[in-house]
Amino acid sequence: MRILVTGGAGYIGSHTCVELLEAGHEVIVADNLCNSRKESLEMVKRITGKDVLFYEVDVTEEQVVEKIFRSHRLDGVIHFAGLKAVGESLEKPLSYYYNNLVSTMILTKMSLKYDVNRFVFSSSATVYGDNTVPFKETMKLLPTTNPYGETKAMSERILMDTVKADQSFGVTLLRYFNPVGAHESGLIGEEPNGAPNNLMPFITQVASGRREKLSIFGNDYDTVDGTGVRDYIHVVDLAKGHVMAVEKLKPGVEIYNLGTGRGTSVLELVHTFMEVNELDVPYEIRERRQGDISSYYADASKARIELGWIAEKTIEDMVRDAWRFEKKQAEGK
Ligand code: NAD
Ligand code: UDP
Repeated sequence: MRILVTGGAGYIGSHTCVELLEAGHEVIVADNLCNSRKESLEMVKRITGKDVLFYEVDVTEEQVVEKIFRSHRLDGVIHFAGLKAVGESLEKPLSYYYNNLVSTMILTKMSLKYDVNRFVFSSSATVYGDNTVPFKETMKLLPTTNPYGETKAMSERILMDTVKADQSFGVTLLRYFNPVGAHESGLIGEEPNGAPNNLMPFITQVASGRREKLSIFGNDYDTVDGTGVRDYIHVVDLAKGHVMAVEKLKPGVEIYNLGTGRGTSVLELVHTFMEVNELDVPYEIRERRQGDISSYYADASKARIELGWIAEKTIEDMVRDAWRFEKKQAEGK
């Protein structure tokens, strides 16, 4: 298949490009590089030995998006492009609503116009809100605590309503849990701009000495050791889930959780990182972060049963690969 990957230069997108190419698909990337670098696509080529066609474009611009659809007979779209920083979304709600919703609407419109019937959307476990665990695809969604989360819930609704009106259109909504780690080559990984918001890149930056110490946000939750629990998933497993989803996509809507089904606490993750990589990560316990949920993880059975997908990599793989990428970054690759 020939797949348009929006946001393909980014963290999850670049890993998905690798898996798509290795599965024999053709990849066209559309990315405005607002949170990534073109070099990541050079690395994708280095890993796979295959070429990627790259358009440096903003996918909220209808005319440029239409030009891509007109110039290539596409079989599917995987829509990763979006802004994703929760805190920033509270400061700049309009940018988030505009970027994340307009991009989804334009890509949906063009998919309908050019008869591209496979659309995979990057959603997030955040759409479940503070539900009971494990999160299941059939749950009624609860409000999220920030504009970022709302853009995911709203994009899901836009896509579901579009399918209701046009039954030949096919959409798969993938709800990611906490993607971490990097490709085992160490050539692509997560490269946050400025101070990382997420736990794993913060840990790797403390381990490399780029930051002094990790703040652990709260140790008084009702969890195994009082720290927050999440379902961390290796980014390569996540990327493989996209290949399976796009290959199996049929008309209608399907929703899949992509997680491992297992929860890991902040302290467990930090200690596993230190043990596996034989490094020290100084940390201190701080107050809870506003808007955080104590604990959540996926019921990952639907993706296993229907897509034949399962997260294979362990927490040890995740911390080892995350550190390998950080080291390569420091060495200049
Ligand atoms: P990322 O920032 O690394 O990748 C997003 C890419 O989209 C970047 O390369 C950026 O330059 C590009 N982009 C943003 N707006 C664009 C626009 N208007 N036009 C063209 N390109 C644009 O983020 P990621 O972690 O790879 O996330 C990919 C998707 O998965 C996002 O939609 C994100 O919300 C979603 N998601 C991520 C996580 C996570 O923890 N990383 C969790 C759940 C969902
Ligand atoms: N966390 C932390 N220190 C950090 C970043 C995150 O203690 O510097 C905790 C956070 O409170 C949560 C977990 O790590 O319990 C995962 O946070 P992250 O931001 O990576 O993911 P999300 O909260 O979006 O699931």
